[in-house]
Amino acid sequence: MMKIDKDVIAENDNKALIGSLNQIDKVIAVMSGKGGVGKSTFTALIAASLARSGYKVGILDADITGPSQARVFGLKPDGLHSTEFGLEPVITRSGIKMISINFLLPNEDDPVIWRGPLLAGAVKQFWEEVDWQDLDYLVVDLPPGTGDVPLTVLQSIPVDGLVIVSSPQDLALMVVKKAIKMAAKMKVPILGLVENMSEVVCSHCGETLKIFGPGQGEKVAAEMNISFLGSLPWDQNLNEHLDTGRVEFYLSSRADQIMENILAQLPQNQQ
Ligand code: ADP
Repeated sequence: MMKIDKDVIAENDNKALIGSLNQIDKVIAVMSGKGGVGKSTFTALIAASLARSGYKVGILDADITGPSQARVFGLKPDGLHSTEFGLEPVITRSGIKMISINFLLPNEDDPVIWRGPLLAGAVKQFWEEVDWQDLDYLVVDLPPGTGDVPLTVLQSIPVDGLVIVSSPQDLALMVVKKAIKMAAKMKVPILGLVENMSEVVCSHCGETLKIFGPGQGEKVAAEMNISFLGSLPWDQNLNEHLDTGRVEFYLSSRADQIMENILAQLPQNQQ
């Protein structure tokens, strides 16, 4: 067992063969136009739903400067272990393998102020030097936005499809257009758009309130000719699960349906 810190991650690049032992069937990357719309939440919910369906699942937290996967799954490992095959991912309570920069920082709140090349290097190593073994699906939490940082991450990992997360507040056509441009540049298919916080579940009566009016996401997806994968309401119960590190125990048929829709859109899975 060894403890590894970020300097090791930055320097250590003579293990290029390690990744070739991994068998990762499909890589799904989750992106958003800006921060705070629910990209990390959807990454976690999609992975949890896949794991519940019996798939072997991993999460690669590529949001290096704003990592949140470790927190929402309640993981606080004491350093990372390394085998002869690479870094061992940390395993969540429902069996999801995870790697995040959080596991390499002494304190959860330590800021990461690395610049582009170092960030890209870390993400590349998360892909190449982690002992993922066999996975059906690896879900990647991209850095927010459509700028250079997520683009660099996409260049470091062979992604099979992109899921765009949006909320009614930022559901401008421009954001989706930018995402489509980015995907085209990277030659990565867009699996579709999901809309978060499209409604609110009343914590008193449980009624769903459509405070932004109906079908915004569906409209934008149709205009841009991409699939609409579904929506989730703002739900205090989900928020509590996230805050207490129990996201994988949040059950939602709508989230499960989104996962099914994503799988149906993946190249090769299509009929
Ligand atoms: P991003 O990854 O896009 O920055 P997050 O997934 O971290 O966004 O979500 C931002 C905040 O909103 C978090 O505090 C999360 O707990 C909360 N949140 C996201 N989606 C929902 C939802 N559907 N219902 C309740 N809270 C949510």
